[in-house]
Order: sequence, then structure tokens, then C-alpha cells
Amino acid sequence: MGNENTANVEAAAKEGAVSKNFIEQIIDKDLQEGRYDHVQTRFPPEPNGYLHIGHAKSILLNYGLAQKYHGKFNMRFDDTNPTKEKVEYVESIKRDIAWLGADWEDRLFFASDYFDIMYECALKLIRKGKAYVCDLTAEQIREYRGTLTEPGKESPYRNRSVEENLELFENMKKGIYPDGSRVLRAKIDMASPNINMRDPVLYRVAHMTHHNTGDKWCIYPMYDFAHPIEDAVEHITHSICTLEFEDHRPLYDWVVRECEFENPPRQIEFAKLYLRNVVTGKRYIKKLVEDGIVDGWDDPRLVSISGLRRRGYTPESIKMFVDMAGVSKSQSICDYQMLEYCIREDLKLKKSRVMAVLRPLKVIIDNYPEGQIEYLDVPNNQENEALGTRKVPFCRELYIEREDFMEVPVKKYFRMFPGNEVRLMNAYFVTCNSFEKDAEGNITVLHCTYDPETRSGSGFNGRKVKGTIHWVAAPTAVQAEVRLYENLIDEEKGVYNEDGSLNLNPNSLTRLETCYVEPSLKEAKPADSFQFVRNGYFCVDSKDSSEDHLVFNRIVSLKSSFKLPQQ
Ligand code: ATP
Ligand code: MG
Repeated sequence: MGNENTANVEAAAKEGAVSKNFIEQIIDKDLQEGRYDHVQTRFPPEPNGYLHIGHAKSILLNYGLAQKYHGKFNMRFDDTNPTKEKVEYVESIKRDIAWLGADWEDRLFFASDYFDIMYECALKLIRKGKAYVCDLTAEQIREYRGTLTEPGKESPYRNRSVEENLELFENMKKGIYPDGSRVLRAKIDMASPNINMRDPVLYRVAHMTHHNTGDKWCIYPMYDFAHPIEDAVEHITHSICTLEFEDHRPLYDWVVRECEFENPPRQIEFAKLYLRNVVTGKRYIKKLVEDGIVDGWDDPRLVSISGLRRRGYTPESIKMFVDMAGVSKSQSICDYQMLEYCIREDLKLKKSRVMAVLRPLKVIIDNYPEGQIEYLDVPNNQENEALGTRKVPFCRELYIEREDFMEVPVKKYFRMFPGNEVRLMNAYFVTCNSFEKDAEGNITVLHCTYDPETRSGSGFNGRKVKGTIHWVAAPTAVQAEVRLYENLIDEEKGVYNEDGSLNLNPNSLTRLETCYVEPSLKEAKPADSFQFVRNGYFCVDSKDSSEDHLVFNRIVSLKSSFKLPQQ
């Protein structure tokens, strides 16, 4: 690497001199001491499911470090286990990472591209007397491994000659042996206090078709052998993974050392991101999908990246969230409310605030001329003039929310009730005079009168009212379906039942089929989002919405109980 790189790295070090996380501190030191002259990171998902919010943390962390140090970020599929891997997952993962904004440029790799190199590494270890073919069964290997308190026992096959090992390993590759009959193991130390170092398995026989290499191989490398080689081949400098791999680090270092890679990468572990009372792990999400409890991997109730996207979360909000969660070595758990806080912050100034009625109740303004429509000028976002204004129709028949009327008001209820005057947002003051009921006693229509002198912007004729409610003009309203969400998990009961099953919340999805929205939303496209005043932020569903049948997902309500952590 040339001077340009060093200069870049120094510049980056100066820029970020304030409050660095522990990984940045390690990188700074490595650069200062000359262990590396550049920074290269990677995100190595296994294509056995869709990505979730925890992966977003890892992606943004790795990509962020590469950017900060003017280094490179690789995208690499860790596809060494063909039983669980699918092309569908590869495609979804690429889409999600690109959407998050992590740019791998032309560096998209597959671990399976390196199977030849891994095989060569295995041969090298055999020749060095550092690996052997073992005929013990999987169960015997487990028995021989020992426990945390007892050392392991050496395999009777441990001292095979190099020649015999080379021949047997080649036969494994040729497909002569059935699955599970023989493995290649590292020859390290059966008495090591670290169980990972007790002659771990490096290769197994598995006659399986691989999504990338087809039937070329019938032996597959184990993760602990493959991963360090993948990193080393790509000249990764800092291989960032989660805490459960801490005890595997000595093995990682052993592999890159014994395979004699120059400038070997350094593994650094950080704590996984967890959300309280939220199903995060890929395995658990997969089960919900397979059991049909959710509508696919992109169900808006999931914290899969595709679910969050469909719900209406933005890449910016997810980045804000993972930044707030921070990078640490100690396990911690975040509240979902923090994620909600982030999306509200992100959308607050960016989105138009429109009127939509979710549970409609008809209102007739008896003193408003029949057939007349007037168009009111309404700012799209009072806090951001740049979003401009729009025309909102007002007329004799409107819809308001059912909950904005009470026949007999409770104390401190300032909305509509017989005899009370309220303000219709962006329009006039109205007073309810009477109402109609159906045979079951449900209120069907309210009759009101309006005061033409109180048009919004007129100073309200000097009068004041306590309640302001939103509305939608009936003849021009667009009918839409609105979906409201709650946590998939019943938080009162915790995530799991005694039998290990999930405590599902029966109310996690509410579908309101007959909602009315302003005509300005008629042209809304999938993934467009808006604030529906008083009701929250909503996004056009990208799967079920169409021109004839608009479907909105509630991203988040407007109120928050979340308190920003003290800085
Ligand atoms: P899961 O635990 O959900 O099954 P995984 O770790 O098996 O996830 P991989 O595809 O192997 O999924 O992970 C790719 C990368 O994402 C790894 O580097 C892993 O450490 C990281 N990662 C996975 N879950 C989290 C999380 N909750 N927080 C931060 N990083 C994570
Ligand atoms: Mg995994």
C-alpha cells in the first residue's frame, strides 16, 4: 500500500478523535503500530434465512468502519453448509444490505469460491503433521472431547502417517466414503483448557448439491476452519463478529498461522443487539414463517430487515437506532421504543401530515350548501415549510373518528358531544346538534352546524374551543384499508411459554377495512409514507396495496413513552 493510503488513514484518525468505541481504539492502535496499513472489513452472512435488525447492526458497523478509515467493505456469503442455504436467501440478503446503504462496490464474494484454496490449506496442514483423518463417529468424537473440567482423550487415529492421511483425505474428496464416516481434524491439543482447541473437525464428508458449486464437492469445510481462511484470502484486517466466538479466537489464530497467511486478520468480538420481548434470532423468525404465524419473512410485525422496510422503517432510522445502541463488549438489551423513537425522528420533518379517518362516523353539516365543495389551503408540514401546501376539499358530508364523539361525555372530554363546539382541523368550528341511531342503538350520523366566520386562518372570529378533531370530506374520500400492529409477543407473559413455545399476542394485527383518507393520497405508491394526523405514521404496503385497494401499515403511533438515555 502506498503513502496515499497512510495519509488517508491518518486523516481519518484525526477526524474521529472524539469518543471512539473499543473497536476503533483497537484499529487506531493497529494502524499506529503498523500491524496493518489499511482497513478492510466484511459482512459474512450465512444464506440460511433473511436478515434482521441484529444483522443491520453488524452491517452498519462493518461498513461504517470501512468508511471511517477510508478502507474497504466486502460482502461475503458464508455458504459452507449447503443443507440450509438457498438462492432466495442470497438475493434477499443482497437487497437488504443495498437498501441499508452499505456499498460493497465490486467486492461480492462467496466462501464457496474458496473451496479449492481451503482444500489446499488442508493438504498443507496434513503435510505439516497438523491435521489427520479420523474414523471415530460423531458421537465418539464428542465423548473423547472431554468436558470443561476434564481433559479430552486422543483419538486412536491421531498418529497416522502423513502419507496415509493424504491418501485418506483424497479418498474423502473423491467420494469413496459415506457421509459421516470420516472427518479431517486439526492436531492441536486434547488437553487444552479451551475445548475448541481439542482437535476440532476441519472437514466432513457430505454428499450434497451446493447452490454455487453443484456436485463438485462432497467434502465441506467447517465454519471454524473456513472463516479465517475466507478473511485471510480477502485481506480482511479486522474480522468483527459477535461474542459467542470469543472462545473460538485461539482456533481462528491457529488456522491463519498454520496455513501461513501473511498479514493475518484480527478477530474482534462485540455484543449482539437484542430487543426486549421481540423475536430476533433467524431461527425463531424462520419458525414463525414456516408455521404460518406471520405473512412471510417480510411481515411488518417482524424485525427482519424486509419486515421493517415493509412496515415503513427507513435506512436512516435503523442507522440512528444502531448508533444509539452503541458498540460494546457487554451484553445489553434495547427497548423497541427506542427504534420507534428513531423512526419518528426521521419522518417528523420529511413527511406530509394528512388527514385520515380510521373508524369513520358520518357527519352532516346541515347549514352547509348541498353540492358545494370548497378547497382549503393546508400546509403539508407546519414544521417544514419546504414541503409546501395542498388543497383539501371541505363540504357538507364528512367523516370523523368514532372516538371523537361521545353521546354522554366523560369528564375532561373536549371533543364532540351534543351541544359542544369543536374545531375541525384546517376548517371551521362546528357544533353537534343531534344524531341518528340504527336499530341496534349504534350512532350512524351526527348533525352539526358550522360557523362560516371561523374558517381556519381567519382568527376564528375571536372565539376559542378546547377540542380540535380531524376529518375527511365524504364524497371525495378515498377508501383504504389500514393495518395496525402490536408486538407479536404478549409482553405481560414474556417471550416463551413453559414448553418453549412463543407467547403470541392475539392482537398483534388489526385490520381496519373501511377507512377514509384525503384524495391527495389517491396516487400514493407502495412504500410512500405519511403522517396521518393524530393517528401516527403510515406507509403504503408494498405487497398488498394496489391502485384499487390502498393498504396502509401503521409504522408507529405519535405518542412515545421513550426517554432518551442521558448522554
Ligand atoms: P442468528 O443468531 O439470528 O441466527 P447468525 O449469527 O446465525 O444470526 P449469520 O448469518 O451467521 O447469522 O450472521 C452474520 C453476521 O451477523 C455475523 O457476523 C453475526 O455475528 C452478526 N449478527 C447476527 N446476529 C446479530 C445480532 N443480534 N447483533 C449483532 N450482530 C449479529
Ligand atoms: Mg449463524
